[in-house]
Amino acid sequence: MIQCEGLVKIYKTDELEVVALQGLNLSVREGEMMAIIGNSGSGKSTLLNILGGLDRPSAGAVHVGKWDLLKITDDQLVEYKRDTVGFIWQNNARNLLPYLTALENVEMPMILSSRLDRAYAKQLLEWVGLKERMNNKLHQLSGGEQQRVAMAISLANRPKMLLADEPTGSVDSRTSDLIMDIFRKLNKEIGITIVIVTHDLSLAGKVDRVVAIRDGLTSTEFIKRNPNLDGGGDIDGGHTTAVGNVHEEYVVVDRVGRLQIPKNYLNALQITDKASMEFDGERIIITQPKSLEG
Ligand code: ADP
Ligand code: MG
Repeated sequence: MIQCEGLVKIYKTDELEVVALQGLNLSVREGEMMAIIGNSGSGKSTLLNILGGLDRPSAGAVHVGKWDLLKITDDQLVEYKRDTVGFIWQNNARNLLPYLTALENVEMPMILSSRLDRAYAKQLLEWVGLKERMNNKLHQLSGGEQQRVAMAISLANRPKMLLADEPTGSVDSRTSDLIMDIFRKLNKEIGITIVIVTHDLSLAGKVDRVVAIRDGLTSTEFIKRNPNLDGGGDIDGGHTTAVGNVHEEYVVVDRVGRLQIPKNYLNALQITDKASMEFDGERIIITQPKSLEG
């Protein structure tokens, strides 16, 4: 479904250039539900905005389904955003209309693309647990309920992929659990591919695979060993062994053999720009540079 290779995004402001993504690799299979974690400023939103067609990549390759997002035209991008992706933000105010009912809100994107399907709009609201509230105006609903309406809206045009940027960032932990359960249900029910960006490590246990981004690069991957187990846990910069002991950790090695070494490892060994590397037949050992003299 998603294939990024060497993805680069550079933001240019007057004097400053920020390299938000510096050659990122990521593959997501169709029907997968996965999470992207990383500290603030690591490039998570940048990646999601590119995948959602809200922002243009600077270089590299990024394909979503049949679309090449580097070559896509502006007209195609409109079609892409309407048909291929659903987007959910932390602050849902930007796609909700407060004086319409929940149902009318879900129908709005259908009307805008001339594909009104009231039965499906109701079905979506039922899936997000708002069957009883669908005729309430938005401003009569709680923050968590509004977020669930936003989830239903994001699915109104039957997208193939759902992108959620910190979807539980402004709700309490009970609502956050509920929202994660709904994602899981939608993933099972309609087989939609779901990518959730979060810095909340406890959510990581709720998905099959977690990819960690550090400084605009995918650095580490956590793959669930037993999908029937759930668990929170913690990842402290990519060097502990598990997310709630059910994920196995792997360092990501790209096609040309590059990998990212955690900063704290480098600091501990005082490695700055060069290191020595040895292979003993079983292990690759990286150490401080050996002196070139003698
Ligand atoms: P995250 O979502 O992981 O917190 P972002 O993707 O928002 O990270 O940001 C990654 C980096 O890119 C940060 O250094 C941020 O300051 C920079 N950045 C993001 N958006 C812009 C922009 N529109 N203009 C300039 N710099 C930006
Ligand atoms: Mg962000």
